[in-house]
Amino acid sequence: MTRDPDWLLDGLSALQREHLLRPRRRVQPLGPGRSRIDGHDVIDFSSNDYLGLARDSRLTRAAAGVPAGAGASPLVSGRSEHYCQLEHDIAEFEQAEAALLFPSGFAANLGTVPALVSNGDAVFSDRLNHASLIDGCRLSRARLYVYHHTRLDQLEHQLAKAADAPRRLIVTDGLFSMDGHLAPLESLCQLANSYDAMLLVDEAHATGVLGQHGRGSCESLGVEDQVTLRIGTLSKAVGAAGGFVVGSRALVDYLWHHARTQVFSTAIPPATCAAASKALELIQLEPNRRTHLEQLARQLRQHLNDLKLDTPAGVGPIVPVIVGSATAALEASRLLAEKGLFVPAIRPPTVPGGSARLRISLSAAHSQNDVEQLAQALQSIRCEELSVDE
Ligand SMILES: *Cc1c(COP(=O)(O)O)cnc(C)c1O
Repeated sequence: MTRDPDWLLDGLSALQREHLLRPRRRVQPLGPGRSRIDGHDVIDFSSNDYLGLARDSRLTRAAAGVPAGAGASPLVSGRSEHYCQLEHDIAEFEQAEAALLFPSGFAANLGTVPALVSNGDAVFSDRLNHASLIDGCRLSRARLYVYHHTRLDQLEHQLAKAADAPRRLIVTDGLFSMDGHLAPLESLCQLANSYDAMLLVDEAHATGVLGQHGRGSCESLGVEDQVTLRIGTLSKAVGAAGGFVVGSRALVDYLWHHARTQVFSTAIPPATCAAASKALELIQLEPNRRTHLEQLARQLRQHLNDLKLDTPAGVGPIVPVIVGSATAALEASRLLAEKGLFVPAIRPPTVPGGSARLRISLSAAHSQNDVEQLAQALQSIRCEELSVDE
């Protein structure tokens, strides 16, 4: 083995000094909403398994006996029967003309943005967008305009400045993953229309969760027909793995040839496709998962308001409690862990400096009693640790 260079060891020391080292935890599944994390049994409020499907035995059974590997990129020979079925199931679930699969949601964003815009074009991105959209924008080499979170007056100014670009693309999270609120999609659609821009909405946290049929933030705000394309993941509420794009048939045909993370990466394993198809079926057959989750989210938000904790207004299962410093967030998370509740501390660079937070992820696998227990624990630690004004 070669000797580790100083910059590498110094980099790790710096993370430690700034309380930004991230543990590599080991997680074992227990009962609904529960995990054994590094040997401690906890109610798990860290997972994006919003509908409680990731550990559902019906998904495991659907995948049983199905090959574990695809063998090649979808363009070469990796498009198995289960893969084709899943594309069909996604397009149908999403009420879209066509769907295209990617190895992950991250890969979907990273491959799609550079396929749509490049040198000389312009791309517009909300400052709080997910890392995969940010990286997709950078990789595209289009002129990048970052607008302050939901500041549409600034976006409009930027769109006007880029009127000469051959193509314009606005990219946004639908449901923002660290704050739990929706993008102003109606206004974004109007701007996209006025300035002849494409609009890409990342539904990663909203698929299966928001909207009357669970299609996500665009459904819940009634703008599905006005966005150019929607990107989703099969790894959160759907409980499996993989990413997808839905849009027009022509758009999907174009991405099939041009989205490099799909062209040059092995297709999602057939077993994973089978599990995801089963999950999409269950999401439609069991809408009570979604309504139960909504109820839990309302219950928790009500408690946090009563406790006067700093929680941004929002919808859906992501409920942050802003704490401030990285050390305060870590300490709050540690105190909750002592009470058998796992709520991760989210620190910079995932969120802007000074806005470290607890991020509570609810799941349909939780009970009302789990939420009560969490609210009580937050109440008992708030005086000591959470920076709230009395
Ligand atoms: C999680 C996430 C992704 C990445 O999806 P994976 O399937 O986990 O790679 C992309 N965008 C957003 C907004 C996400 O939250």
